[in-house]
Amino acid sequence: MKTEWLRKTIKDFEPYFVAPIAEKHVINANENYFNVLSIPVVKKELVEALDTFKPQLYPKPMADNLRKAISEYIGCDEDEIICGNGGDEMITYLLNTFLNPGDEIVVHTPTFDMYELTGEVLGATAVKVKDLTGYRRDREGILEAVKKYQPKMTVICNPNNPTGDLLPASFIEEVLKAAENIVFVDEAYMEFAQKESVIGLVKKYPNLVVLRTLSKAFGLAGMRCGYLVAQKDLIEAIAKVKAPYNLNAFTQLFAPIVLKHRDEIFKVRDEIVKERNRLYEELVKIPGLTVYPSCTNFLLVQVQVKHEEIFKALKANDVLVKIYRNSAEIPNGYRISVTTKEVDDILLSVFRKELQ
Ligand SMILES: *Cc1c(COP(=O)(O)O)cnc(C)c1O
Repeated sequence: MKTEWLRKTIKDFEPYFVAPIAEKHVINANENYFNVLSIPVVKKELVEALDTFKPQLYPKPMADNLRKAISEYIGCDEDEIICGNGGDEMITYLLNTFLNPGDEIVVHTPTFDMYELTGEVLGATAVKVKDLTGYRRDREGILEAVKKYQPKMTVICNPNNPTGDLLPASFIEEVLKAAENIVFVDEAYMEFAQKESVIGLVKKYPNLVVLRTLSKAFGLAGMRCGYLVAQKDLIEAIAKVKAPYNLNAFTQLFAPIVLKHRDEIFKVRDEIVKERNRLYEELVKIPGLTVYPSCTNFLLVQVQVKHEEIFKALKANDVLVKIYRNSAEIPNGYRISVTTKEVDDILLSVFRKELQ
């Protein structure tokens, strides 16, 4: 292939590389350990629904039944919602709708890579506002950058991946007031925080777009389902760049069933939150290790020494975490997804053995 064939903006991109996974306990991607099909009524209703399932037909372009189920869950109108194949697809659609080459986005850092990457493909550039010590967001810095650049889009991940930091909704409202253009709030982990969501502000602010996903707290990462919430005219604009049948018929069938039985799934969520708090309290006690408070289903930790050795020792114990190698932003860091006590106890014993 000739490199000239490539779109100029992606010429220097590295291929996205996922190493084959051999470990038994995979806690590197913030997946949920819980299988919703182990809830008998969820499985029963899915099996019943499959009786009338027609995979030979195209799915509903705007996923009407799913939008209805989501609107009941989050308390918005159906026409304030647009659904797709996971949050990642929704990020692509959102940026495709609004960014021109040369546009700027303001984003805090460190955060989820997809905003900057997707923006770069479109020829937009990111103005990055670095976190304060302890990976807490620099609120003044964000507000200053918004006022100075008036970027086409301001992105706030709340709670933030990979730091776990949660900003108050009142701060996001300040950003909404300061910004003349789009403010995009990624609430992929909001079901774990259970407070400070800005979905309730959608009716008040015509420049607000909120992202949610069923991949994390709902445990449906493999099914692919994410959605954006915004005022109707924004949703209609985003729908213009959407593939007509983007969301497959199976997801449209299954997701409403899962949403209907969310109380059962939220019991598991509550267990994960409890286990996260326990793991945090245990990690804090280990010398030479820093752990950051988190409102999500993961914890960010850093070590002073033995960074690669600990990663290898975890692997030897069948545990795969996300490691930040040669990262200027998160030196000697790991991001640990919280699952069960059994897995966390293996993790703790490795950290204790290596560091004590
Ligand atoms: C996981 C995640 C998403 C979306 O994931 P999908 O599986 O594509 O829905 C979006 N934002 C953040 C910050 C995430 O961690």
